[in-house]
Amino acid sequence: MAEADLFALESAALANAKAAHADPRADSRAALAELIVHYERLMRESRRLIRRSDRAELDMNQMNRQLHELAQQLEYRATHDPLSGALNRAAIIDKATACLRHSDMALIVLDIDHFKWINDDFGHPAGDAVIKTVVTCLRALLGPEVAVGRVGGEEFSVIWPTADTGEARDVAIHICNAIADQVFGAPINRQITASVGVSWNSVGTSFELAYSRADEALYAAKRAGRNCVKIHSQLPLPVTQPAIADL
Ligand code: GH3
Ligand code: MG
Ligand code: MG
Repeated sequence: MAEADLFALESAALANAKAAHADPRADSRAALAELIVHYERLMRESRRLIRRSDRAELDMNQMNRQLHELAQQLEYRATHDPLSGALNRAAIIDKATACLRHSDMALIVLDIDHFKWINDDFGHPAGDAVIKTVVTCLRALLGPEVAVGRVGGEEFSVIWPTADTGEARDVAIHICNAIADQVFGAPINRQITASVGVSWNSVGTSFELAYSRADEALYAAKRAGRNCVKIHSQLPLPVTQPAIADL
């Protein structure tokens, strides 16, 4: 089917004007008047189309902004714990795995001591508030660049990319002290502590190994009476020494 000429009327008016122009004897006024009518209509239509396309562009820009915000919200939800705002387990695994590909890394894991009692004595919402406060405390201590994650109910991880084992140990001690010094207001009004385990891991170590070492150190800290730091030594130790080094 032949396509309809959108400008059939204008083409005809233009042809009439051309013919009138080419014939010196013709009275060109009628052709010119017809041409003016169509020219003005074309201008009106063009203005209308330009306005419509400007509106469409604005709508599209707004939709792009909304899509971008939505993508950021989805990315945030996929990587963060909704209660505390800390990184979630999957994000910590991703970050630690990426870090261990090119750097030595200390993994610090901490677990709130006797947390079940807090829930039992003050209720679940008070327990939730403690979890949030611990994350706020870690953020204030470590700064926004350090990856802090909530990997379980009342267990947290900190990724410390360093070859300096002394530095990682100092950070772990600061964490332990900061939580013990943190004031947890009403209704809790009691000291809350955490046990901390640290593993030092050379570049290329798997996340699973780094985590199981830190976890082993954490449970050594629990066994040692809680509210303390234990380090898992990666270096082979003489058989007479325990693998968990006391501070
Ligand atoms: P330990 O010193 O050995 O770590 O003892 P604990 O009581 O801290 O550890 P336990 O594993 O016995 O209890 C942890 C409790 O944490 C049990 C669980 O109900 C609670 N819990 C887990 N997730 C949440 C949460 O999101 N909010 C609250 N309020 N409680 C939680
Ligand atoms: Mg606990
Ligand atoms: Mg626990």
